[in-house]
Amino acid sequence: MAVVLKSASEIEKMRRAGRVVREVLELARSLAKPGATTMDLEQAAAARIRELGARAAFKGYHGFPAVLCTSINSEVVHGIPSVKRVLKEGDIVSVDCGAVIDGYFGDAAITIPVGERLDPVTEKLLRVTEASLHAGIAEVRPGARLGDVGAAVQKVVEDAGFSVVVDFVGHGIGTNMHEDPQVPNFGERGQGMKLKEGMVIAIEPMVNAGGPEVKVLADGWTAVTSDGSMSAHFEHTVAVTAEGARILTD
Ligand code: MG
Ligand code: MG
Repeated sequence: MAVVLKSASEIEKMRRAGRVVREVLELARSLAKPGATTMDLEQAAAARIRELGARAAFKGYHGFPAVLCTSINSEVVHGIPSVKRVLKEGDIVSVDCGAVIDGYFGDAAITIPVGERLDPVTEKLLRVTEASLHAGIAEVRPGARLGDVGAAVQKVVEDAGFSVVVDFVGHGIGTNMHEDPQVPNFGERGQGMKLKEGMVIAIEPMVNAGGPEVKVLADGWTAVTSDGSMSAHFEHTVAVTAEGARILTD
């Protein structure tokens, strides 16, 4: 599939979808308290997406059963909300949400600390993962290369002693949730596809406190760290404009 460039009016539609995603993520943040279940987040998100006149992008995507991905602690991505998954003090929960308005998609994720007492390494993991996302975004401009983005993410992560997940990557986005190109969270400066004005990409570092290896559980969805270490995930949908990056999901 070729990379599809978006017009200014298409990017405005994606911005509307991006605002829905942001609102849902902030709702999830407000609800992710000790004693809440990931199904509580799911149900609130589904209701809010409907209220905002959008459609949930993930539900039914390759058979995924929910509006949100909710991934706790050593779960990396694609965790399935459940009434049985009760959040507790010191947990982290990664919440990933996609929404569609008028056929245009937005996609973003945050990792939320549950309660007030995160252990220091986990607190650092969240800080570094979010910083790596913004380091990647800072590289986005016409003429930059995907390798510049990946290298910037990877440097922040590895300088902090953490590992970038390589089995999952970011992606182009537009009238489909996943379009070309793939956007790895690793790479070499000066390598890879050149960014052009009108490209829209989801940059989404997944970062493990331990090693980079992940495995998928028997549910066919939930990816976890192979070594049981904590994992964080932050994502924005970003348009390449003449002025540089424009974040559509903030
Ligand atoms: Mg996402
Ligand atoms: Mg994504």
